[in-house]
Amino acid sequence: MSDVPDLSSDEEHFEDDEWQEMESQNTTVGCLFCSETLPSIDEAVNHCEIVHGFKLGELKSKFNMDCYSYIKLINYINLTKAKPLDIMLSTQPLWDDEKYLKPVENHEWLMFDFESLVEKPTSPKSYHANVENGVVTLSQAHFLELQRTIQSLTEQLKESQTHLEMAREDMNKMKSSIQTIVQSGTTSSNSEPVVVDCVSKLPIEHDAGYFSSYAHFGIHYEMLSDKRQLVLLQYMPLTNRM
Ligand SMILES: [Zn+2]
Repeated sequence: MSDVPDLSSDEEHFEDDEWQEMESQNTTVGCLFCSETLPSIDEAVNHCEIVHGFKLGELKSKFNMDCYSYIKLINYINLTKAKPLDIMLSTQPLWDDEKYLKPVENHEWLMFDFESLVEKPTSPKSYHANVENGVVTLSQAHFLELQRTIQSLTEQLKESQTHLEMAREDMNKMKSSIQTIVQSGTTSSNSEPVVVDCVSKLPIEHDAGYFSSYAHFGIHYEMLSDKRQLVLLQYMPLTNRM
């Protein structure tokens, strides 16, 4: 048994009126960006998202934030009076500095359950853009949404390019190994056994790389669409059996 007191059992004895007492003790929560006060922390978080486009859930997943980064973020906003738009569009966690890790001034923000916050799925929103004399006017939220979309698409594109590059490398590796196998099969069949670098010589652990190279979806597509590859693959077990 551990010496740690069992907190869960205490919770059971917590009466409803005790909860209510705690609730009523809660002061209002001031907005991080304007002078408005909200009746609860959840409403304050909601207000910051709707009015100021400040999305905690998005920041949390974007920068992989924990509760320490959350405290730093709140202090950073308090101290630097950072604009919500600048924070949302930032490519780096500007608040990631030990000097921001200190008791939060507006301590109500610490009541927020940041750990269990999940990013809300982005629902398709409809924005109204005003077009007049060839000039398009957007709301700030709309502009932010567009910036966000561009950023996320750029990241997705970068990621798929990396995957394509990996698939290409895997393909080249496979091509050269198949070539080696086929060639070694033809040379060793009509002479004394020659020590060749073929698959049968490799320890089983080496197969991990081989199988993981198949994990890329692109490989399957490329393999199936390349008839020569298919023919070589059909021959592979035969040449390997020598
Ligand atoms: Zn506000």
